[in-house]
Amino acid sequence: MKQLAVAIDGPSGAGKSTVARAAAQKLGFVYVDTGALYRAIGWYAKEKGIALEDCQPVCRLLPEIKLRLLYDERGQRVLVNGRDVSEEIRTPEMSRYASAVSALAPVRQFLLQTQRDIAREHAVIMDGRDIGTVILPDAQVKIFLTASPEKRAERRYLEWKEKGLAVDRDSVLQELMRRVENDTRREQAPLRSAEDAVVLDTSELTLEESVERVVALVRAAMEGERNG
Ligand code: C5P
Repeated sequence: MKQLAVAIDGPSGAGKSTVARAAAQKLGFVYVDTGALYRAIGWYAKEKGIALEDCQPVCRLLPEIKLRLLYDERGQRVLVNGRDVSEEIRTPEMSRYASAVSALAPVRQFLLQTQRDIAREHAVIMDGRDIGTVILPDAQVKIFLTASPEKRAERRYLEWKEKGLAVDRDSVLQELMRRVENDTRREQAPLRSAEDAVVLDTSELTLEESVERVVALVRAAMEGERNG
């Protein structure tokens, strides 16, 4: 049987990962955070001394990178050549590296099959920037999750603060805008909503409400699959 796939795309800070993770838990789906894959490549680039301003050289190193995604009680873990980098990739610097390497076509090509393989094996809720448009164009449910720039910056700011990172609101807002700009304007798989995606603006929704909307959309699709 074809697995059910839910694609959630949208700009940084829209709450994709939090909403997708909670919805997947409710539905018994595997939550796949594809940003972690780009972060892992970015991490490797930094590890090899490649400059943020010119990440192109990382393309030559792709054949030596073995990425693995594992799922345990802590959620998704990402391993680069056997080393668990799940925590290290969650820094503002790694966000910048991820954004830089994600604009490179060979990097996107390298990660394409990894993402499709997971969706073939499991019922997934996969979040990213091009899941509904490029990675899983046949996903039964596509959601474009968004929120106002101010709300997104506020949420990201609180997230960093909770982690004990010294950040201020303005720089978080600027950083987010820069990243969304990079992701939207790049030539390779730019961030945009799939034509058949449901746009969900979470600016005025609580986390629970956002999760409920996603769960309802998925349940409706499951019902349709059963009947159709
Ligand atoms: O989602 P997250 O913030 O972890 O993603 C980090 C960066 O990776 C994004 O800013 C984007 O540039 C890139 N990305 C992407 N395509 C995806 C997921 C992430 O280009 N499917």
